[in-house]
Amino acid sequence: MNQRLKMLQTWMRENEIEVCFLTSSENVFYLTGYFTDPHERLLALAVFQEKEPFLMVPSMEVHDARNSGWEQEIIGYSDIDNPWDIVAKAIQQRLSAVSKAAIEKEHMNVERYEQLLNLFPKAAFVSAEEKLRLLRMIKDEKEIAAIKEAAAMADYAIEFGASELKEGKTELEVLNALEYALKQKGITEMSFSTMVLTGANAASPHGNPGTTRIQKGDLVLFDLGVVVDRYCSDITRTVAFGDINDKQKEIYDTVLRAQLAALEASKPGVTAADIDLTARKVIADAGYGEYFPHRLGHGLGISIHEYPSLTETNPLVMETGMVFTIEPGIYVPNVAGVRIEDDVLITADGAAALTKYPKELQIIKH
Ligand code: MN
Ligand code: MN
Repeated sequence: MNQRLKMLQTWMRENEIEVCFLTSSENVFYLTGYFTDPHERLLALAVFQEKEPFLMVPSMEVHDARNSGWEQEIIGYSDIDNPWDIVAKAIQQRLSAVSKAAIEKEHMNVERYEQLLNLFPKAAFVSAEEKLRLLRMIKDEKEIAAIKEAAAMADYAIEFGASELKEGKTELEVLNALEYALKQKGITEMSFSTMVLTGANAASPHGNPGTTRIQKGDLVLFDLGVVVDRYCSDITRTVAFGDINDKQKEIYDTVLRAQLAALEASKPGVTAADIDLTARKVIADAGYGEYFPHRLGHGLGISIHEYPSLTETNPLVMETGMVFTIEPGIYVPNVAGVRIEDDVLITADGAAALTKYPKELQIIKH
């Protein structure tokens, strides 16, 4: 039995949870090593305090699941089976009654919940998500190695994207070129939809790339991430296309100082709030407080957003092995949008930025 399952079972015993029934691709992968997107089909991992866990997958995936290294039981079901009959049988072989079951309340849909209510009519349902988030928050060496590789590919994507900037090209043309370059390097998946935003468009923190053309004097914002071995990276860089004005420079310089101050403040023992507030103070002192409307950063790993969450009120204490983003931004409508984002690993005595593309203002001239 792997270490992660053992930790989950310890938590189940402490909380008198007889079965933990997990259905999200991310948590199933974390505990089994098998990743699949089952679409509407049921993917499930059932874990018990002592009895053998089972992984339930569509029968066409049994072979892949076995090859992933999962050594415990795998149950396949076909498209004409009722998977819940099979789940019921597999659980009844292991337990006579269930009084407390843990499920992913945020992930599970009502249809599946009703199936489980049928199965365990006397059970109380508790959330498994918080425990899984805490387990996943501290990365092991293999996870860190994957994130480092994903971060290096993200650096490459920014470098390539910046080299593609040309007057009159659209945001989508630049986006397409950089994703094509990544695919040529064997990258199959981005962490989320890539953003290339130019000029006033960059002033929307969650803007959508389109057919706006790059013009001299624009700040161009790239926000992207690459998935390597199921682990995500996430980088933002804002570069100048041609010469920019003093106001744009001031905004850029403020974001950069905030980003560097937060990175410097990151180490074991400080809280998430300490780090957020370090950056927030730099931006507020420069008079841009109202233009930094989001948290400083988020954990990342199998999911693009996970624990720790770097907000100004989170008392969570930083520990070695945590990986998260530091991504302050200033968005002044119709003037400029600047964000600078690194992926950061808490080390024994401080923090290391895993994304390494230069952060001093890059002025692209083509
Ligand atoms: Mn991010
Ligand atoms: Mn990002």
